[in-house]
Amino acid sequence: MDAEEFRRRGREMVDYVADYLENIEKRHVYPDVEPGYLRSLIPSEAPEEPESYEDIMKDVERVIMPGVTHWHSPNFFAYFPTGSSYPAMLADMLCGAIGCIGFSWAASPACTELETVMLDWLGKMLQLPECFIAGTSGQGGGVIQGTASEATLMALLAARCKAIRSVQSKHPEKSESDIVSKLVAYTSEQAHSSVERAALIGGVTMKKVPNDHRYSLRPDVFKQMLEEDKAGGLIPFFLCATLGTTSSCAFDPLTDLGPICNSEKMWLHVDAAYAGSAFICPEFRPLMKGIEFADSFNFNPHKWLLINFDCSAMWVRKRTDIIGAFKVEPLYLKHENQESGLVTDYRHWQIPLGRRFRSLKMWFVFRLYGTKGLQAYIRKHVALAKEFESLVRADKRFEICAEVILGLVCFRLKGTNELNQALLKRITKSREIHLVPCQLSGRFVLRFAVCARTTESHHIHQAWRHITQLTFELLQEPCH
Ligand SMILES: *Cc1c(COP(=O)(O)O)cnc(C)c1O
Repeated sequence: MDAEEFRRRGREMVDYVADYLENIEKRHVYPDVEPGYLRSLIPSEAPEEPESYEDIMKDVERVIMPGVTHWHSPNFFAYFPTGSSYPAMLADMLCGAIGCIGFSWAASPACTELETVMLDWLGKMLQLPECFIAGTSGQGGGVIQGTASEATLMALLAARCKAIRSVQSKHPEKSESDIVSKLVAYTSEQAHSSVERAALIGGVTMKKVPNDHRYSLRPDVFKQMLEEDKAGGLIPFFLCATLGTTSSCAFDPLTDLGPICNSEKMWLHVDAAYAGSAFICPEFRPLMKGIEFADSFNFNPHKWLLINFDCSAMWVRKRTDIIGAFKVEPLYLKHENQESGLVTDYRHWQIPLGRRFRSLKMWFVFRLYGTKGLQAYIRKHVALAKEFESLVRADKRFEICAEVILGLVCFRLKGTNELNQALLKRITKSREIHLVPCQLSGRFVLRFAVCARTTESHHIHQAWRHITQLTFELLQEPCH
């Protein structure tokens, strides 16, 4: 493909993408394929001779689309949203064209510098405490990670390194493995599974702190666990608190947990993967009260801020904590402008070496929407969730299972778990809308998350009509 053909195919692809998104509602949101469906549709080996572009595009419809779950359909209410917007897609195209690998400042100065400034812009949009803003001389700063999971892992590993050094400064005779075997990390029972995985990868023990009736971590029990663990010779070093849990969008009480962590010299990482985007709105900022106690904070603009995957924003209070933990410097990666207030080498802030020019997506989206446009977007989704909540509340057969704070509604049919499982099965099978369940206090609960950029009030009403119709059919059956 030469530049001339690329121009033509590029225009065609833009049309294909716009058509796909404009007509996405005509497709079933959830695919109807069996595992292994794809292998039989394409050859078992790569072609020896080049093929034609037309043939490939034909196969997109024949092979790919039947197996796609359409996350950007306005009838998609599963998981949490994944961001998408035209400006972000265009910026990603440019990112692909520049195609730099921005592991150090010198490897592509614009890639590094735009990222630092965009994380400052975003941090200021949220009104994060000053310590997280890089500026030109700040001790903290932001970085784009691929996912919230990586951010949690980075925070845990940095905390682990800091804890080992701290113990060794007082007891130089203690070996690293001896110390690591005593380290304990904590999180709530409602934390995302990636938090537990971070501890598995980091090779440290993690304990789950029980929740209260609102699914928030209980600080009194946390404190008690710390006392018992310290008395048992263990070393508490890390807490991952969640703002907006995945199951029910619950918030851990940072104003209680923060001071405990600070006085115990434990690292406090705050995972706000979904909810963080809402903090650009002043009315939702009270939900992150206590953020000033955190050592690191992370949320996913790729979830709810109109930026296509991947873009997970992470801020640290002290950049030296994170850089110091992972610095390895072979000669081929060194450059003349070594780390200073102005020069950031982001490879020290993350697990891989390579990194894409992801801040372009932020720059395009922030400028084209403006903070006001982004705030309006968040508010619209929250209003749609409230609308769905009131539809559920008006139907006595159903109950709401957790406070609706942002764009997620947890609900169920009053009755057995089996009944609710049967309802979800029907919803999934009909493929008109897509939902996933969660478990709250041993109960099988349906999660309704407002996800797509194009979801409107009539989609919410349509979805509810569909759910009540399937409920009607289900309750007609004699076995219930
Ligand atoms: C979605 C989610 C995650 C995982 O996000 P990734 O970016 O896919 O790793 C982590 N924590 C919470 C609370 C989430 O909702």
